[in-house]
Amino acid sequence: MSLGKIKFYNTLTREKETFSPIKKGEVSFYSCGPTVYNYPHIGNYRAYIFADTLKRVLLYEGYKVKHIVNLTDVDDKTIRDSQKEGKMLKEFTEFYTKEFLKDIKSLNILSPTKFTKATDYINEMMEIIEKLLKKGLAYKSSDNSIYFNIRKFKNYGKLSGLMLEEQKENPAGRIKKDEYDKDNVQDFALWKAWGKADGNVYWDADFGKDLPRGSKAIIRGRPGWHIECSAMSMATLGEQIDIHTGGVDNIFPHHENEIAQSEGATGKPFVKYWMHNEWVLVNQKKMSKSEKNFYTLRDIMDKGINPVAYRFWLLMANYRTRVNFVLEALEGAETALKRLYNLYQRLGANPLAGGGKVNQEYQNKFKEFIEDDLDTPRALALLWDVFKDEKISDADKKTTVLDFDKVFGLGFENIEAEKIPKEVQKLVEEREKTRKNKDFQKSDELRKEINSLGYEVKDTSDEQKVSKI
Ligand SMILES: [Zn+2]
Repeated sequence: MSLGKIKFYNTLTREKETFSPIKKGEVSFYSCGPTVYNYPHIGNYRAYIFADTLKRVLLYEGYKVKHIVNLTDVDDKTIRDSQKEGKMLKEFTEFYTKEFLKDIKSLNILSPTKFTKATDYINEMMEIIEKLLKKGLAYKSSDNSIYFNIRKFKNYGKLSGLMLEEQKENPAGRIKKDEYDKDNVQDFALWKAWGKADGNVYWDADFGKDLPRGSKAIIRGRPGWHIECSAMSMATLGEQIDIHTGGVDNIFPHHENEIAQSEGATGKPFVKYWMHNEWVLVNQKKMSKSEKNFYTLRDIMDKGINPVAYRFWLLMANYRTRVNFVLEALEGAETALKRLYNLYQRLGANPLAGGGKVNQEYQNKFKEFIEDDLDTPRALALLWDVFKDEKISDADKKTTVLDFDKVFGLGFENIEAEKIPKEVQKLVEEREKTRKNKDFQKSDELRKEINSLGYEVKDTSDEQKVSKI
């Protein structure tokens, strides 16, 4: 199978580029996953639905995809909140990991090749830090924490477009927190020396040989958040990978720091294509825990809304545009999705027993849309067109819809065909004979009888279509 020519918007170059992976036909793909300290809100899920759609497009276009999604199970927030609840970190994060896995299943998100837990890669993180110390890109501060020296890495800021020159006026500072913004461009923590607030969460790192003589060799502490993703992606996908995704809020500082750490350690370009999805807004403000303007997936399920309707609603917009969430819009999306399911159900009402073909004309258009930086809004409009097109047989329609749904993930394959009761089916078969014999009077009588049982029959040139009234 020939591979599709896909164009993606690359945050790094700020251009739409023709996708060409490092290894022909294979894609190494890393997505920043959740911090398992709470129920994610639906705004967070946009990143996973986007990454899933991207993966589905790559698979559809004939690529082999190795996809890694990490689970951040140790960081400032997981430690803080596990202690608030008086729980062991592992017990606490495992609970929210399970909830996350349930959620992504209900959103029809395909499982990645592997979920990587940060706590399983502490040694790999230490190894990168050692390399950075050796190369003089990292240093130990007076509190024994290890920091990355951003001024020693000449490409710092290339992803976010940050001009480090502008920051020169600022006194060189250090930031130990995992999350901060552009007003706080400073050296960031790679290894955080243990403090009381960390309780029983620590690892002993032997950085002795890479530190100035006389320094304490073993540093008890924990990794910073940014080094976790550098270590997990390189350990599972290699030093150079094709695609790395996340939300736009990951561009700075998280992904900028990942580049600094990874490229600083290996001396090679880390990621070929950086791709980021935009925010979900509520009343024009970003949906976030801190703004308290969020819905979780269980909030919308409690309202009786199918989570797939949320996926469908997001696909109606390009992943790079901001969307404003209102409940009524989601309800509208669910109504539309139900209509699509209904149309699909009706396709099965005829005795088809498979045998349909994907309509080539529509498939070509479909590919053109999804290959253009995942233009799902236009691809969805095309799906409606397929349903409406009377020139296509029901069997071909069904097969075409299922083909498109490999990318949409709306779950058409789980929709059961409408079941026609045996007595109705019998009348339809009888009517088929009268049609052939051009016995229109009898045919009309049979139609009325079918109607009285709650079904209607429509004549097309080569078949009768039966559906519930
Ligand atoms: Zn990450």
